[in-house]
Amino acid sequence: MEQARIVVVAGDGIGPEVTREAQRVLEAVAPKHGLALAFEEHLIGGASIDAHGTPLRDEVVARARQSQAVLLGAVGGPKWDAMPVATRPEKGLLRIRKELGLFANLRPATVFPALAGASTLRPDVVSGVDMLVVRELTGGLYFGEPRGRSAAGGKREARNTMVYDEDEVARIARVAFEAARGRRKHVTHVHKANVLEVSQLWVEVVDEVAKDFPDVALAHQLVDSCAMLLVRDPGRFDVIVTENLFGDILSDEAAQITGSLGMLPSASLGAGGIGLYEPVHGSAPDIAGKDAANPLAAILSAAMLLEHSLAAHDAARRVRDAVTAVLEAGHRTADLVLPGEQRPTIGCRAMGDRVLEALAL
Ligand code: NAD
Repeated sequence: MEQARIVVVAGDGIGPEVTREAQRVLEAVAPKHGLALAFEEHLIGGASIDAHGTPLRDEVVARARQSQAVLLGAVGGPKWDAMPVATRPEKGLLRIRKELGLFANLRPATVFPALAGASTLRPDVVSGVDMLVVRELTGGLYFGEPRGRSAAGGKREARNTMVYDEDEVARIARVAFEAARGRRKHVTHVHKANVLEVSQLWVEVVDEVAKDFPDVALAHQLVDSCAMLLVRDPGRFDVIVTENLFGDILSDEAAQITGSLGMLPSASLGAGGIGLYEPVHGSAPDIAGKDAANPLAAILSAAMLLEHSLAAHDAARRVRDAVTAVLEAGHRTADLVLPGEQRPTIGCRAMGDRVLEALAL
């Protein structure tokens, strides 16, 4: 059996606590699905600054490049807040994302039935929501040239450029169609083609890629109406694919529909085939070291690792089913208790234990 190497960079605050539970879940599920995983732990963020004087060592980047996948916790905390921006913990995170050439960011927004009450939208609106936002991460307005400020004739001016070439669009479209194949087989491409030439190119190229995926349905949706539909009828979406700026905004809107920061996983996929998996939340210094963090976002990130880096679809489903079962059984970390709700809570390790028990069933 070939071994898949997984680099674990747990980071700071609750990062190590939640990542430990995610790793335990991977260790438990792997042998049942014929997978051999070799974990290798390294420092990132504040922990790396304290030990080595830098938020990410070259050696760790090299090890990550030789791995199948990177499992990341979170970085940052008050201890390092006064440091200059160039050497802060967040630089470690930005660097590893850049070094791995991560061009696709995948953010699922799933409403678990047991947590439907956590959304600010009505339970009947959010019931059954299970979508995946695929955002282009390395192009578009955030990176395009020319950019900058000037002061022509004493008047301040600023410009940014939205630019994509067809290859950049085609590769992210492929990620979306591939992901849809493992889901409900529907892709919505979000654009502003009535105004932007860049979006017109996206529509053209996404249509071309779609020909290779005749089993997946495709719809094109204007970004403004998509923003409205996301709060009116979020259940209609399966996979959403879009460029960087639209994706930045819509992935947060979609996440908010679920209402639970401790439940949101993410994956970023690189050109070299390496994936980086991390919960959306930060290092939560207010609860770090108290065994109070919710590890489910990290555990669901591990499920994405199984899915996207190891093509272990059954194993991934098994982990997600275990999380659903634990929530259905009423187990909650403190962050999942709704205002006014009276119920006992469990800690990070105990929540991991419950998931492991559900996996064993
Ligand atoms: P945060 O996500 O760390 O915390 C926001 C709130 O949500 C806090 O009250 C926290 O206790 C709670 N929370 C977050 N995750 C939770 C979990 N798994 N279980 C239970 N409760 C949870 O965001 P913040 O407070 O704005 O930032 C704290 C630090 O994290 C800062 O240093 C920030 O720079 C860093 N940060 C890192 C990342 C990352 O590593 N990807 C992302 C965001 C923020």
